Amino acid sequence: MTLLTRDSLQIVHFPHPALRWESKPVRKVDDELRALVRLMFDLMYEARGIGLAANQVALPCQLFVLNLTADPEQASEERVLVNPVIEKRKGTQEEEEGCLSLPEVFAKVRRSKTVRVTAYDLDGNEQTFEADSLEARAMQHEIDHLHGVLFIDKLAEAGRLSVAEDLTRFEQRYQHAVRRGEIESKAETHRRLRELETRWA
Ligand code: ZN
Repeated sequence: MTLLTRDSLQIVHFPHPALRWESKPVRKVDDELRALVRLMFDLMYEARGIGLAANQVALPCQLFVLNLTADPEQASEERVLVNPVIEKRKGTQEEEEGCLSLPEVFAKVRRSKTVRVTAYDLDGNEQTFEADSLEARAMQHEIDHLHGVLFIDKLAEAGRLSVAEDLTRFEQRYQHAVRRGEIESKAETHRRLRELETRWA
């Protein structure tokens, strides 16, 4: 299989099927995966995001990258969470949220106020995060991605209505692109995801 490159890796938009994929835990980290993680940071910064999950670049593995500053100069703030699990939740918070896979769409989402997340880094070391506020929100959002869940799934009725038109627009754009052959079909994406998911599992 060919090495994935900067050109082949891009952020996919709703309703791309990779966003609904239940990703597999990572069992081995190789140089290619490390390179992909670096590319994910680059894509995230380009898009001015603070987090990016593997599903969003159509990779079916349980990892995400995070930098709450969104600033590539602040590399010490970069986090890579492999196989993240929420161990504990406390309180609730409701804030406006967006997603790089749903550009320009924002809505209020209720989430836990604090979370304890355990994960591995790329060297296989276990790490524990006691996250609060924005960090807690971002981690919950990214972990959802790894299980095929999007923030729009979490909206109350009013929020759902407010984004309905945008979602229809995204659906139409996707169908259009598939018909014109600009992006692969759903079946083709599923086939590729199944092929890729054994790679680091
Ligand atoms: Zn997102």
